[in-house]
Amino acid sequence: MTGLFVDGTWREAASRRTREIRCPADGSLVATVPEGGPEDSKMAIAAARRAFDQGPWPATSSLERAALLHRVADLLERDKETVARLESLDTGKRVVESRYDVDDITAVFRHFAGLAGAESGRVVDAGRADVVSRVVHEPVGVCSLISPWNYPLLQTAWKVAPALAAGNTFVLKPSELTPSSSIWLMQALEEAGLPAGVANLVLGAGPDVGPTLTEHPDVDLVSFTGGLVTGRSIMASAAPTVKKLALELGGKNPNIVFADADRETALDLALTAVFLHSGQVCSAGARLLVQDTIHDEFVAELVRRAERIRIGGPFDDDAETGPLISAAHRDKIEAYVAAGLAEGAELLTGGARPQGTQYDGGFYYLPTILGSCHAGMSVVREESFGPVLTVETFTDEDDAVATANDSIYGLAGAVWTSNAGRAERVAGRLRMGTVWINDYHPYVPQAEWGGYKQSGFGRELGLAGLEEYRETKHIWHNIDPSPQAWFDGKDVS
Ligand code: NAD
Repeated sequence: MTGLFVDGTWREAASRRTREIRCPADGSLVATVPEGGPEDSKMAIAAARRAFDQGPWPATSSLERAALLHRVADLLERDKETVARLESLDTGKRVVESRYDVDDITAVFRHFAGLAGAESGRVVDAGRADVVSRVVHEPVGVCSLISPWNYPLLQTAWKVAPALAAGNTFVLKPSELTPSSSIWLMQALEEAGLPAGVANLVLGAGPDVGPTLTEHPDVDLVSFTGGLVTGRSIMASAAPTVKKLALELGGKNPNIVFADADRETALDLALTAVFLHSGQVCSAGARLLVQDTIHDEFVAELVRRAERIRIGGPFDDDAETGPLISAAHRDKIEAYVAAGLAEGAELLTGGARPQGTQYDGGFYYLPTILGSCHAGMSVVREESFGPVLTVETFTDEDDAVATANDSIYGLAGAVWTSNAGRAERVAGRLRMGTVWINDYHPYVPQAEWGGYKQSGFGRELGLAGLEEYRETKHIWHNIDPSPQAWFDGKDVS
């Protein structure tokens, strides 16, 4: 059985419990994996601690770490189809999307391979000829890496690649719903030659295996990607031992369309912004803000196009988007839509499950657009994380910025206009970690990713994504020591 990976060994859960992983597209059985608990987390932390304190990995050269990350990238290229299928079976997303994800994951490993030795330290002018003063970077130690189900291996790669590049050891906990690609990753790290104990994997439900990973005194850093409510509890549980912490939480992201935008492209990308992967994207453009002068015409065309979106399973070549991750998640989205309608939103399209036997056993929901929305509604304020677009209007630039920023979140947003000055002014005033101008969704591993406000703190990717996993130490070396005689020892009694 493969499942938990601790100290270089595959094992069952201490409790011997297992979990069935089922494809959200049709309910078919994908895998049966061990279901870990606190005991498994403790064992994995102990292995990571030993590997950090006694093992060779933290002291390896940046060239060796880079070489290992490149080998993982090579294995991703070799196993691209296998990994894409694992992701699609666990998440239900179309395999064509999973292939893009695997390319992105490969790029993330290559990016951090390139950065492994970057800015490794500097000499500081201490202003004294008898002192050598330098700043060095060191790995933080044992990292707990906790990731969500929507982009299982991609979100995991954003953590694992920099953690290894900086010389850390880790315990990875993927979402209990989507463990398969993390199992593949452990096999790949083993094949690439990573020493035992550096990479450990625990599987299981968040409330069972998670708290040990976030509160254990032997863990130095927690990097978490997931929902706001879970993020808050992780922050509290990491507080007593003052761990380094990075939280990549949710978003409720505004997509702002001015009347002078390239209409055709703005329409096309407004659909991609919110309906890609059925809206299960942290940066989904789920809040459409349209300038009042073009609202009616723009929204009517958007509705027409949304009604043509084809839904299907991961291996359906005709499908343009797929199912939701679980029945519970679909229930949550249905509740948000019902609340929005009760608060006065107008159902423009969707708001129901698609009909037909091809959807049996899966958790499908129609692309949904709600009109007449305002920032006071829960469906606008909170992250439904599904294929639900709310439409608001604005009058001018100030109104657009104020409406867009009226949110507890600050992950991402977009502005559409042909006025370059306005585009830059609005981008500068949006309180978000990523702003797209005349585009939606692209990202590159070279650029930092993360949230303002309650979308979290810390950054992934870029250079900052490596620095999260480094401690900074100042070393002061007095090369000609002599007494200072500050305390001169005179007897003044
Ligand atoms: P979630 O918060 O339910 O779970 C995320 C992970 O935390 C899972 O592995 C889960 O098992 C674990 N977990 C749950 N309770 C825990 C606990 N008490 N202690 C430790 N770990 C615990 O989130 P989800 O439903 O898996 O993912 C969707 C959320 O992730 C959305 O809110 C989305 O916006 C967010 N997300 C954010 C980003 C980003 O870059 N900011 C990227 C992807 C997803």
